[in-house]
Amino acid sequence: MQVIKTIQEMQQTVKKIKQKQSTIGFVPTMGYLHEGHTALVDQARKQNSIVIMSIFVNPLQFGPNEDFDKYPRDEMRDMKIAEEHGVDYLFLPTVDEMYPNKLGVNMTVIDRVDVLCGKSRPGHFSGVVTVLTKLFHVTQPDHVYFGRKDAQQVAVIDQMIKDLNFPLTLHMVPTVREKDGLAKSSRNVYLTESEREEAVQLYHSLHLAQKKIFDGENNPAIIVNEVKKYIQSNTSGAIDYVEILTFPTLQPMDLINQQFIIAIAVQFDKARLIDNLIMSADGKIDHITL
Ligand code: AMP
Repeated sequence: MQVIKTIQEMQQTVKKIKQKQSTIGFVPTMGYLHEGHTALVDQARKQNSIVIMSIFVNPLQFGPNEDFDKYPRDEMRDMKIAEEHGVDYLFLPTVDEMYPNKLGVNMTVIDRVDVLCGKSRPGHFSGVVTVLTKLFHVTQPDHVYFGRKDAQQVAVIDQMIKDLNFPLTLHMVPTVREKDGLAKSSRNVYLTESEREEAVQLYHSLHLAQKKIFDGENNPAIIVNEVKKYIQSNTSGAIDYVEILTFPTLQPMDLINQQFIIAIAVQFDKARLIDNLIMSADGKIDHITL
């Protein structure tokens, strides 16, 4: 595995890769790697001759009172994990390398952001698409890999790729979970021991919703209410949102009659956790399409 820290070296490397007509699979991350990230790499490894991973904690996507400074980082450990999973090139730019000057041009997301995390974190997705535009230009991937755990991110990137004609294919990889069901996340390290025990209830609450749908309930408001009640009675976290929306268009729905997402965000003392299930109208999670 080769570690690359500058845009210039990454671009020269990509040029050479392209001359050999190899396909590039790209996995952008913010590091502190876990099995959720490596699942993306494993899929990229299967589908491409070259795999590039980036690790960059992007200041543009953090709000002023969010955890940019405290975001967990461990470069040495990440390098080892990336290498073990067959990453060919690990792109590790500094903030100065990515943003040497205040940007004079950036990107603004208009659609699919007035709900869920887009609503709670104003500007977050504009920061995400701005950095991804830069990273896609630098690494010129044929295939890009994103986790279903961050489903709104997938929906926004799907739209960006289509709207701006990026010549690449987006792959959405299923959420990787701990043994008890908690979605793996770099932020899980912020949880106290008792919060960690409670956090699994987020997953259980999603399954409660799925069971309601299997049992024939098709009114989103009733399901959202039940899930909120469940989270309130079984965790000490504060609910940021519980929403049911069409997926990937993220529109409100009066009746569950098409592919949809149930998504939740809960704030614990130091960790804000998100999770979701994307289902077809009959509650199945196997054949989700973008
Ligand atoms: P992050 O480093 O948190 O920005 O995540 C980088 C990529 O890994 C994003 O596409 C995430 O959706 C994905 N990812 C993070 N956690 C998981 C997980 N538990 N399962 C699958 N993908 C994940």
